[in-house]
Amino acid sequence: MKRLISWVIRYVPRKYLQLFSHSFLKISVLFYSGKNVSCNVCGKTFRKFLPYGRKARENALCPNCLALERHRLIWLFLQEKTAFFTQGLKVLHVAPEHCFIERFASLPNLDYITGDLESPLAQVKMDIHQIPFADETFDVVFCNHVLEHVHDDIKACREINRVLKNTGWGIIQSPVYDMEVTLEDVSVTEPAEREKLFGQRDHVRKYGRDYAPRLSQSGLNVQENDFVKTLSEEAIKKFALPPNEILYFCTKGK
Ligand SMILES: [Zn+2]
Repeated sequence: MKRLISWVIRYVPRKYLQLFSHSFLKISVLFYSGKNVSCNVCGKTFRKFLPYGRKARENALCPNCLALERHRLIWLFLQEKTAFFTQGLKVLHVAPEHCFIERFASLPNLDYITGDLESPLAQVKMDIHQIPFADETFDVVFCNHVLEHVHDDIKACREINRVLKNTGWGIIQSPVYDMEVTLEDVSVTEPAEREKLFGQRDHVRKYGRDYAPRLSQSGLNVQENDFVKTLSEEAIKKFALPPNEILYFCTKGK
């Protein structure tokens, strides 16, 4: 199963994965029944989660809703640290994750809009370098695992900052590696070379520990939030959360 998942992630284009993976994985729910782990996004329990990733991580993917470790962490953060589930909010979700779309869309307190350049799951076709909304439109923007793919990440963040209201906030996650400075080389365009340098064929940079200050150049305030460190070991185990994941919580800046 681990090898099959690694192969599928590597070679099946993302837009097809987004369309068909859900039905395929539904079948695997039958083989993972149990009570050891719990998905706080969909509320189901399992013997364990499915492996996921190019170098497949054990106990990662919810076979019911496709939430990964980071999605379960974000969900818990939103529940415990924000008024996301109760306050009237206008939300822009860039490159929306499957596990969140229906759940966020059905929340009566939200005016929820999804946008993406390619994803068949998004309502608005948009380029994040030029977000097609007026200044100060949104209370919340989510943009996860997008910036490592885009040509100009600072410009993208400037756009997010622009469309946020003065009291607005957002979460902008990307893969961040344990290295001091972000690795970027615009002359590298070959997919194989990009994979070697940046970790994936469609990544244009590899972020280091300067991720937050780098994005802050856009004017956004980007805070490193170690919410996961405040949780009990029991909770981390039960929801299979990523124990070292920093949440990049942003607020409107200049
Ligand atoms: Zn789930």
